[in-house]
Amino acid sequence: MTNSIKMVDLHGQYLKIKDEVDQAIQEVISSSAFINGKPVEAFAHEMADYIGAKYVVPCANGTDALQIAFQTLGLRPGDEVLMPAFNYVASAEAAALLGLVPVFVDVHENTFNINENLIREKITPATKAIVVVHLFGQSANMWPILELALEFGLKVIEDNAQSLGSDYLFPNGEKKKTGTMGNLNTYSFFPTKNLGCFGDGGALSTDDQGIFSEAQMISRHGQGQKYAYDRIGCNSRLDTIQAAILRVKLKNLDRYLKNRIAAGHYYNQLLGTLPQVKIPAENNWSQHTYNQYVIRLEHRDKIKDLLKEAGVPSMIYYPSPIHLQKAYAYLGYKTGDFPIAEMLCREVLALPVHTEITSQEQEFVVSALINAIKTLWHNSLRIHLQ
Ligand SMILES: *Cc1c(COP(=O)(O)O)cnc(C)c1O
Repeated sequence: MTNSIKMVDLHGQYLKIKDEVDQAIQEVISSSAFINGKPVEAFAHEMADYIGAKYVVPCANGTDALQIAFQTLGLRPGDEVLMPAFNYVASAEAAALLGLVPVFVDVHENTFNINENLIREKITPATKAIVVVHLFGQSANMWPILELALEFGLKVIEDNAQSLGSDYLFPNGEKKKTGTMGNLNTYSFFPTKNLGCFGDGGALSTDDQGIFSEAQMISRHGQGQKYAYDRIGCNSRLDTIQAAILRVKLKNLDRYLKNRIAAGHYYNQLLGTLPQVKIPAENNWSQHTYNQYVIRLEHRDKIKDLLKEAGVPSMIYYPSPIHLQKAYAYLGYKTGDFPIAEMLCREVLALPVHTEITSQEQEFVVSALINAIKTLWHNSLRIHLQ
């Protein structure tokens, strides 16, 4: 088994739906409608039904989706956009490209999501929007964020790239899927996301017809009537082949999520009693779908090396916070500005989790992790005794 543990198993996942996927791809090839073929619109409707949103605009990837969202919501150069300090680069990058000012907010150490209690103090007259990122498969605490947005007239964008299919439970018992609560929400179908295609893909969702039309227009060169350009847009399309694949995979999404959730819970059970490991917290307002299973521990880098020697892959999401990256130095942040995000970058480790993982594989991962911790402990003891 040593060599068979994978961070993700896209091939194994494909084999279970191979006939249907192959046929869907073949149909696109036969039709030659590679751009804006029928499966694109069909997928948009099916996805809207699945998440419970009125409209979905497919686009080329999740980063484009963020840029299209900022443009659609009318954000202007100099507008401040709040976003979590512990995050993938996409929202800061898309904002910066449009001349918007990314303003970071520190996160919760046990869920990795934006700390809703730290948002208010970051709001200035220039603040126009907030990007809520549902990290690793778990919803941020939306209700207080939506209340703040209402109070200050902020636009809300949910970056749901990592958590398609997760739920958020409002205090009044109402349940909604992540990525359906903001003004305009963004998705990525990068292969390793909860719903992944065979290349790049993305989408936006909204309940507002005006926002829908505007986002769709911007994604199509800002074109209203043919060759009439009403706004500066971009060219961001979901390939027909990817849409055809996504239609097949969407039908299997509930099974995929069930497997991820079961795997996450099994890790929680196996690791919950290890004092050296902090397992990811599950909030009572969210159904965690474990797009990533991320633990925290000391000596993370050494443990990662020892795991690798034992044949267990692991990944670091994310090794360095955006506010300390060279490209974003112009924002003027310094070490210590976001202590939780900085600490997480030192301590987080993502263990293998995917739709095909078996309990035996998970047990192997955990025993390798325990061995790695023991090895480190023995080594440091030896150094002490010398
Ligand atoms: C993957 C991801 C994106 C962007 O996705 P691409 O499709 O690769 O552009 C944006 N935000 C977050 C949080 C992501 O994980």
